[in-house]
Amino acid sequence: MALVTKAIKGTKDVLPSEVHKNQYIEATALDIAEKFGYKEIRTPVFEHTELFQRGVGDTTDVVQKEMYTFDDKGGRSITLRPEGTAGAVRSYLENGLCNEVMPQKVCYLTSCYRYEKPQAGRLREFHQFGVECFGTKSPLADAEIIALAKALFDNLGIKDLSLELNSIGCPKCRAEYQKALKEYFMQYKDSLCDTCKDRLERNPMRLLDCKSPQDKALAENAPVVIDYLCEECQEHFDKVQEYLKAQGIEYKINPKIVRGLDYYTKTVFEFVSDSIGAQGTVCGGGRYDGLVSELGGQETPSLGFGMGLERLMLLMEAQGAPFPEAEKPDLFVVALGDKATLKAVEIIKDMREEGFCALMDLNQRSVRAQMKYADKLGARFNVVIGDNEVESGIATLKNMQSGEQTEIALDTFVSGFYNISLSEQLSDLEINGEEFDFGSLFGLKGEEE
Ligand code: ATP
Ligand code: MG
Repeated sequence: MALVTKAIKGTKDVLPSEVHKNQYIEATALDIAEKFGYKEIRTPVFEHTELFQRGVGDTTDVVQKEMYTFDDKGGRSITLRPEGTAGAVRSYLENGLCNEVMPQKVCYLTSCYRYEKPQAGRLREFHQFGVECFGTKSPLADAEIIALAKALFDNLGIKDLSLELNSIGCPKCRAEYQKALKEYFMQYKDSLCDTCKDRLERNPMRLLDCKSPQDKALAENAPVVIDYLCEECQEHFDKVQEYLKAQGIEYKINPKIVRGLDYYTKTVFEFVSDSIGAQGTVCGGGRYDGLVSELGGQETPSLGFGMGLERLMLLMEAQGAPFPEAEKPDLFVVALGDKATLKAVEIIKDMREEGFCALMDLNQRSVRAQMKYADKLGARFNVVIGDNEVESGIATLKNMQSGEQTEIALDTFVSGFYNISLSEQLSDLEINGEEFDFGSLFGLKGEEE
């Protein structure tokens, strides 16, 4: 059956030859998050549907159109997470993190599921790096999560991403704004899409986020929240900007950003690129002071962002950002005959225990074929072991790049390998540089003259 060998539409495999790029992005993200004090949280891939209906908001596109929802065999309505925030909040409440010292700062790397039309940068299974900061109303936190996202982009060598910032106020200032917005859209009621006709009554701000071209055009001239901010929200917005400036983070204010989720308040932001086509928003986030209480907790001002990892990868590739090379094996042992094979097994075990990547041919092919295989794997060194080498206890270690060959004792293979590979590395350094500053290996600064 052809279906068996066909992945589901909108999903993507990451192959072994590419996965080091994903691992690099993920490790960098976790590393930066840790420096900012965000610890990883892992939550289940599915939750009760109601969590997302309430946590994302049932007038959003995500809930109205995009969720993977099904009944399990026990008749419960289950949904594959379309985003990471709701699950993180649920876990924060359920596990009593809400009773710990505030703020609680968490991050995640997670798969998300949305039934959308697959296209470049838009998948049905995609991945996010996200952070959430629970329990602070300080604008310092808004600036901190933005700085965290920025630090990650900088670290990955990404350029030309612009930070767009807005404030969508609080329920207080929004009441008047919603009124103005509703009045504005009422004039065009008949030309709105069906979803938006309904939204006009329930949550007119969602109209600003509609993807239908006609509604989008109407939204262009709609009133903007930023003109309706109350004193507190304005002050908060000013402070966020002050803290961004203090860190040299550039931004522009875009009064059109409203974000897709219902419980956002005050700060909202996006990092946008124009090098990856229509799906240019790589990261979106903001404050959601109303969410934790909506899900049954105490009033807990909070905020966070979600960053799409596939879009981040597209962007890095489009910009030619540097990726580290995939790790290559340190050693390939070519073994011929039973005795040599036993010796090879022993050597690669010792080498692996010392932290090296050491391989041999599991298929025990001919010497020629093993050599070719070692070459294909890109091993740095190889060593050939046959009956003679087992008997004499001496073999030849070959640097596969330079062709340089050195005798090595099988009994003390690992320490021999250390010596040879280290001395070759050092002599490389002497050849390339004038005089190598060994202090720099250990981060020592040279003495000033
Ligand atoms: P969009 O307007 O592009 O649909 P969104 O507002 O729905 O985005 P969020 O819910 O804010 O997106 O998710 C945060 C980030 O996750 C986005 O900025 C994007 O990078 C990524 N993302 C969202 N949906 C998808 C998807 N279907 N495929 C790949 N990445 C996605
Ligand atoms: Mg979307």
